[in-house]
Amino acid sequence: MPEILNHRQLSEIANTFGTPVYIYHAERIAEQYAKLKKAFAHSNARFFYAAKSLTNVNVLKYIRSLGASLDCVSINEVKLGLMAGFSPSDILYTPNCVDFEEILAAKELGVHINIDNISILEQFGNRFGNTYPVCIRLNPHIMAGGNFKISTGHVDSKFGISIHQMRHIERIVKTTNLNVEGVHMHTGSEIKDINVFLLGLEVMMETVSHFPNLRYIDLGSGFKVPYQPGDPETDVDLLGQKVEQAFLDFEKETGKKLEVWFEPGKYLVSQAGYFVVKANVIKQTPATVFAGVNSGFNHLIRPMMYEAYHHIENITNNNGPERIYTVVGNICETDTFAWDRKLNEVREGDYLVFYNAGAYGFEMSSNFNSRLKPAEVLVKDGNATLIRKRDEFDDLLRNQVL
Ligand SMILES: *Cc1c(COP(=O)(O)O)cnc(C)c1O
Repeated sequence: MPEILNHRQLSEIANTFGTPVYIYHAERIAEQYAKLKKAFAHSNARFFYAAKSLTNVNVLKYIRSLGASLDCVSINEVKLGLMAGFSPSDILYTPNCVDFEEILAAKELGVHINIDNISILEQFGNRFGNTYPVCIRLNPHIMAGGNFKISTGHVDSKFGISIHQMRHIERIVKTTNLNVEGVHMHTGSEIKDINVFLLGLEVMMETVSHFPNLRYIDLGSGFKVPYQPGDPETDVDLLGQKVEQAFLDFEKETGKKLEVWFEPGKYLVSQAGYFVVKANVIKQTPATVFAGVNSGFNHLIRPMMYEAYHHIENITNNNGPERIYTVVGNICETDTFAWDRKLNEVREGDYLVFYNAGAYGFEMSSNFNSRLKPAEVLVKDGNATLIRKRDEFDDLLRNQVL
């Protein structure tokens, strides 16, 4: 049975800390981490939690306590990771289009650096030669995931160095004596077809002969979790078996024993997160019944940005008759969370919960409409603890020059 928080627990937390509120369930994160560990138990695998999905330092600390490493996409995420107690050797920094100064700062902090363009590779090589190892992010040109916005492997993608530029990479590495310790790919999000990883792995393995010091192949992430009831989840057990076999074959062929790295974000924290809001207004129009809640895409942007489905339930009127609603926010912009949802009758004042709100929920929130960002609560060992205070009015003014 997956670890879940029930309606009563969620509404008690909402009563205590107010709404809107993000609630994270530590044991559910641990459960997902254990699934990955088990699936890849026979490979030389390491898991770098993708911080960007949820960066609250308390969550980072908890994930570190499970034994995971950390994947960061900005220097500030690196700093948060260090604050949370990750050692530099457990942090991989995977930026895109950042200033060279930021790369230098990451080098000063001693973390693994993943370089995703020729220009930086050249600058880094010219400056440091073989004195600081690097990883190279490649674009294997494998189309992954269902949505163009969240796919990064296609030819128009800004991510990675095209696999067709291998010859150029090779020239730079040779000329500057760069020490390449890893090759990396991350082809997108929501990948249910494990062949995407396996095809990518094949492409990555073909590059190994160019890099004598290579220690690891990083397959990134994109593990899919179910959002709708009945949705598929990436079959990590099957992927684990296939990856193990591929690395064994590789070892037989080349005598090289490599580590395999992954960077799960969504897989670890999505299902551990709940977003609880309150119904402000029930509004009947000629077309539908709107349930207008005390939130909007300023707090949870995934439905508007990716047409993402989040399952919604009324947690304070469990036995009410089912009715059909359009769930919307309270900001002055079209902010529809869900069309035509069957919910137990929603009365003004009822709490609604959005499931799968752990990843890219709070993290992508903003103060649009001068609204305050929600609080965050962590439930661990049965105790609910506030891990981020709700914004206050002063937060809106904090950097304004008055
Ligand atoms: C966003 C991202 C991830 C995490 O992706 P999920 O779909 O949340 O697992 C991993 N690696 C890199 C480089 C990323 O940008």
